[in-house]
Amino acid sequence: MRLFDTHAHIHDKDFGEDRDAIVERARAVGLVGILTLGVTAENSERALALSHRHADVWAAAGVHPHDAAEATDAELDALEEMAGDPRVVAVGEIGLDYYRNLSPRDRQLEVIRRQLLTAQRVGKPIAVHAREAHEDILPLLSTWSAEMGGRLPDGRPLGVMHYFSENAAMAVKYVALGFIISVHTSVTHPKAAQLAEVVRETPLEYLVLETDSPYGAPQRYRGKRNEPAYVAEAAARVAELKGIAVETVGDITTSNALRLFGIESAVPAAPREAR
Ligand SMILES: [Zn+2]
Repeated sequence: MRLFDTHAHIHDKDFGEDRDAIVERARAVGLVGILTLGVTAENSERALALSHRHADVWAAAGVHPHDAAEATDAELDALEEMAGDPRVVAVGEIGLDYYRNLSPRDRQLEVIRRQLLTAQRVGKPIAVHAREAHEDILPLLSTWSAEMGGRLPDGRPLGVMHYFSENAAMAVKYVALGFIISVHTSVTHPKAAQLAEVVRETPLEYLVLETDSPYGAPQRYRGKRNEPAYVAEAAARVAELKGIAVETVGDITTSNALRLFGIESAVPAAPREAR
C-alpha cells in the first residue's frame, strides 16, 4: 500500500534524536512521502533543511496564523524566497484561527493575504489552517480562486484544507473553489461523526490524508505523540467509511497528494501486484 502524510511537523522539537527512526517507521508501513510544514520563517528553514536530508520528506514554508502577530516583513520576504526552493512544494501552514486568537484577526488577515501573493508568484499550492474562521476564510479563498481561475497556472489544485473541521456541505464548497480536503487521523475517534460524513460524501479524488504530527494521535494511540506512520489508521477508517479496500484509499489519496504537490515524477508508481 502507498500512503502520503500531507501534514506533519516532524522537524519540530517534539521529534528529537528519533526523527530518522520515525521516517523509517513511516516507510515501513508504505509511506512514499511526508510533508513537513513550517509555522514561522525560522521554523520553515528547519523544515527545509530536513527535506534536503530525506528524499521522501518535502517542506512547506509559511507563517501560521498563531504566529502572524510576530511576523515581520523581512520574514515574509525570506519565506517568499524559500518558497522558490524545489524542496518546498507548498506555501503553509497559513490560515486564520479565531478559536485561539493568538494573533489579532486583522493581522492574521494581512499575513494570509501576503502569503496568497507568494503562492501566486511561485505557482505552488497553499496548505490552509482554518479554525472557527470560515466566515472570513471562505470569501477570502473564493476571491483568490476567482483571480487564479480555480487552478494553479499548471492546472493543479489551489491547495489543501488541512485538518478539515467543517461539514460535508462546506467541503463541497471548497472542492468547487479548487481545494483538496485533508482527512486527519482523528477520523478514527468515536466522536468524529461530522468528519466521517465528510469522508462518506466527498469523492476519493478530492481527499488526502494527514497526521498533523505530533498532534492528534488516532484512537489506537490516543494520548501518545502522533507520527506519520499512523496515517495508515486514517486510511483504514476511510476505507471502512466508504466500503472500499484500504489499498484503493492509499493509492488514490497518495496520487492526489503527489499531483497536488507536483512530485509525481520523484516517486515510482506502485507495482501492479501490490494492489
Ligand atoms: Zn499543522
